Amino acid sequence: MSSTPLPTTTSRDRTLEPTPVGVDVGVKNLVAAAPTNGDLEASLVIEGDHVRKRHETLVEAMQALQGAKFDTTDGQTQLFAALWHQIRPQVYDAAVRAVRYAQKFPAPTLVLEDLSFCEATLWERRTVDDVGTWLLPALQQAVALKAQEVRIPVTYVNPKYTTQQCHVCGDLGRPENDTLECTTEDCPVGTVCRDRSAAVSIAQRVDREGMTEVIGHHD
Ligand SMILES: [Zn+2]
Repeated sequence: MSSTPLPTTTSRDRTLEPTPVGVDVGVKNLVAAAPTNGDLEASLVIEGDHVRKRHETLVEAMQALQGAKFDTTDGQTQLFAALWHQIRPQVYDAAVRAVRYAQKFPAPTLVLEDLSFCEATLWERRTVDDVGTWLLPALQQAVALKAQEVRIPVTYVNPKYTTQQCHVCGDLGRPENDTLECTTEDCPVGTVCRDRSAAVSIAQRVDREGMTEVIGHHD
């Protein structure tokens, strides 16, 4: 939890070469963040165990309430509000830490995946079993909001294969649960943390695709 305001990015950063910092949002790891030339050891990872357990509680309770033979709308509303009240600080804390991490680099730009979520609200998705459909849009929104507060531009890139692509050679590797194995001969990567590798791949896409859909400028 962070109550300290983030320092605002200063105008002198304008003259520097921008550093794209990729942010991969997820469930096991809420956030993985790394710059283009990512040293995976120095990348940021924030685990999501606590949030996942809360979400399981929420879904179970919601399903129980919906199965009741009387109107439980009020109960569902209160429970949802209570659970979101517990989860929200962690979502925003992860977002603040991601932005703070990006601020360590010269003229950072945050790069997120352009995930096409259904437009349903958190409330409408309250009984969805897959925590990702619920949590990922919330995390992305929080990261974009916190970045805008300190005037760090946010850009969105094509998410295709970001978790399968080797961040060094660009070939598609062999994904396991948490890891990605690059099987390309001569590539030094071997087996790496999948989310960290994805963060680098996301950052790299800015160079290839150009900075489109930028939100917030250094004005
Ligand atoms: Zn490779």
